[in-house]
Amino acid sequence: MKDQLQPGVSLALLTAYQVGGPAEWYLQPTKAEVLDEALGWARRSELPVTVIGAGTNLLISDAGIGGLVIHLRSWRGTQILEEGLIEVKAGESIAALTFQMARRGWAGLEWAVGVPGSIGGAVVMNAGAHGAQFSDTLESVEVLIETGERRRVAAGELGLAYRSSLLQQRDWVVLSARLRLAPGHEPARLIEHIDEFNAFRHRTQPSGFPNCGSVFRNPGGEKKAGWMLDRSGLKGQSVGAAQVAEQHANFILNRGGATARDILTLMIRMRDRVVADWGIALKPEVRFLGQGLNWAG
Ligand SMILES: Cc1cc2nc3c(=O)[nH]c(=O)nc-3n(C[C@H](O)[C@H](O)[C@H](O)COP(=O)(O)OP(=O)(O)OC[C@H]3O[C@@H](n4cnc5c(N)ncnc54)[C@H](O)[C@@H]3O)c2cc1C
Repeated sequence: MKDQLQPGVSLALLTAYQVGGPAEWYLQPTKAEVLDEALGWARRSELPVTVIGAGTNLLISDAGIGGLVIHLRSWRGTQILEEGLIEVKAGESIAALTFQMARRGWAGLEWAVGVPGSIGGAVVMNAGAHGAQFSDTLESVEVLIETGERRRVAAGELGLAYRSSLLQQRDWVVLSARLRLAPGHEPARLIEHIDEFNAFRHRTQPSGFPNCGSVFRNPGGEKKAGWMLDRSGLKGQSVGAAQVAEQHANFILNRGGATARDILTLMIRMRDRVVADWGIALKPEVRFLGQGLNWAG
């Protein structure tokens, strides 16, 4: 394990925002023994452990992340357990899995094709789109808990709700997820649905600059975060090289060289404007990792 552990690895290019400082210690494991050994070493050394997936929902501090960063992007593989039931390792790409299942004629993930993360991140975030979410198909997860013990946890015990789960409050590593899909569909029809979802996304969401998708969760009720931010005139506003997208006010673009501090400062400005105009305190969907990202602002 020691030869795979790297000090001071820059994390910026591992995130969709392309911002953030280095990991004090970085490991991209592919084998269970290496992961177990690294977590044991971190425990004995009293180092905090942070897990990242595809980095598509992260704002990593400019100072980086202390302790051990486990990057599960290469933790891949999908196993068919029975007709319609699969076990997917945490680093598997959501989009790739979606196509793989559609080609088999197993329905249930078509909506997820445009969510650019990993299965582990999708479970932690309970990622969703087009009225569907991961909790619709999730049966259980296998996790490594703080003591290094492996545990299977049923979806019903994960507190899955809109873009949230209890996993966001635990220091657990999600190793894999069991998903229940609906076999017996016409693959061509499922691919057609996927194409429709992709086309919708291309029409409605900004592209061309690094971004993390929606910055804020929708607060519930009729008013969506993007709508309020738009009505409050935030489109196009910027701090440093971070700019609220013209196409969608709930997206922040890194126009080139933005820092985490730029993005955070812009987010605080957006939040405060919405509080002033609508009396609603938006909550971030993007996850803050590392020191110095003070949301209290
Ligand atoms: C262009 C764009 C569009 C997007 N559209 C959507 C959308 O439509 N719907 C939606 O819900 N999201 C969307 N997102 C956000 C993002 O893709 C999802 O939240 C995704 O599920 C995050 O997965 P990830 O692997 O990138 O996780 P990361 O960003 O790497 O991590 C997210 C959180 O999960 C934790 N984590 C990740 N993997 C593990 C693991 N194996 N074990 C324990 N903790 C882990 C991290 O510590 C972090 O707290 C979008 C992002 C982008 C860039």
